[in-house]
Amino acid sequence: MQVQKDIIVIGGGAAGFFAAINIAEKHPELSVAILERGKEGLQKVKISGGGRCNVTHAEFIPSELVQNYPRGEKELLGPFHTFMTGDTIAWFEERGVELKIEEDGRMFPVSNSSQTIIDCFLFEAKKHKVEVLYNYSVKSIKPVDNRFTVTTSQGDVEAKKIVLATGSNPKVWNLLEDLGHSIIPPVPSLFTFDIKDKRIKDIPGVVAQNVEVKVLDTDLFSEGPLLITHVGMSAPAILKLSAYGAVELAKLNYNFKIEINFIKQDFEDCIDQLKDLKQDLAKKQIFGTAQFDLPKRLWRKLVVASHISENERWADLNKEQLNALAMQLTQAVFQVTGKSTFKEEFVTAGGVDLKEVNFKTFESKLIPNLFFAGEVINVDAVTGGFNFQNAWTGAYIVSQSIAE
Ligand SMILES: Cc1cc2nc3c(=O)[nH]c(=O)nc-3n(C[C@H](O)[C@H](O)[C@H](O)COP(=O)(O)OP(=O)(O)OC[C@H]3O[C@@H](n4cnc5c(N)ncnc54)[C@H](O)[C@@H]3O)c2cc1C
Repeated sequence: MQVQKDIIVIGGGAAGFFAAINIAEKHPELSVAILERGKEGLQKVKISGGGRCNVTHAEFIPSELVQNYPRGEKELLGPFHTFMTGDTIAWFEERGVELKIEEDGRMFPVSNSSQTIIDCFLFEAKKHKVEVLYNYSVKSIKPVDNRFTVTTSQGDVEAKKIVLATGSNPKVWNLLEDLGHSIIPPVPSLFTFDIKDKRIKDIPGVVAQNVEVKVLDTDLFSEGPLLITHVGMSAPAILKLSAYGAVELAKLNYNFKIEINFIKQDFEDCIDQLKDLKQDLAKKQIFGTAQFDLPKRLWRKLVVASHISENERWADLNKEQLNALAMQLTQAVFQVTGKSTFKEEFVTAGGVDLKEVNFKTFESKLIPNLFFAGEVINVDAVTGGFNFQNAWTGAYIVSQSIAE
């Protein structure tokens, strides 16, 4: 028998569940079903944030929050005035899920387990009579006479309204193109940089707390903590660049040079400080007296790269060495040769062109009664819980507007 529903949500991920639950709760008179291609839903929620699910971020001012979205910054400002991070916290709290804030602002369930979020969604979906149809892979969507016929791997499904929450599935973007939508070509975002360089060899795990990084020959720039890994560099200073530079760095085929200022001082100031140190620490070995709050292992690598030997004392430092050390500290250039997956969080830039979405309702401007939520549209964020916040906000607004 053909399934008929008032509302069909396509995709049982973060945005799909959040939309379906809120629609069903606000409009108990409507029949709501989720079509999910997998035998389970919420798979990304499960692995998110290293299995802890970084649900949102403790940033409570919409104009500040939007600054974390390389794509979507302008468009999300209005929606965040309707459903913000604070609303997310309250939503989960009202349903028995307490969130906690970590030092860097990321918010996780107190349980430290993404399963808590999944359990909450499955419970709420059941409570509000959302039917979740697993192994229903959507193959086509046809608007016919104010309704939609959705062809799935298990036959046709009919609905008055559709919420498309299929994340970054290229096949669904192709379907949307067939329906007349423009799709911004997808590229990965949130990745780490592959770098082979003596200065970071054998020191994985070392963190420089606050650096500036520039991608040479571009306008890309970021600052924050930097982590040395087995294959290159990671942490917010790098991940932010990967997000803001997602399109540009793809064009460069992930081959480019970065310049790092490890101490966030200009070259001249650094020279002055090194001269002072030459006097103050004259009898001490340079190698053993890490400065500028740099981790010892990184300091030693930069000292060696400045052609200063292990036994040299501050008093012996000549002008070339002093200049070389200041260069390594403030303008160290590294060649990036590729990218690697950041396992805690990754996302795809690209998707439905934002010009074709009404951000008051999250409805398609081209196909009435077709709504979007989550990563399917061309919105993505830096790491920290902002990608889920986009999913919650879009899905919530869909639930408000869909019955109008
Ligand atoms: C490893 C990892 C960790 C992450 N950690 C975090 C984090 O901690 N915090 C954060 O904010 N963000 C995180 N993200 C990003 C976040 O998971 C996504 O932004 C978010 O899941 C997007 O939600 P969505 O519902 O739009 O898409 P998804 O969660 O991808 O859900 C889409 C759903 O649609 C289904 N689907 C697709 N095509 C079809 C079809 N044709 N028919 C039927 N169903 C279909 C899929 O099977 C899937 O279940 C992480 C991402 C990854 C990969």
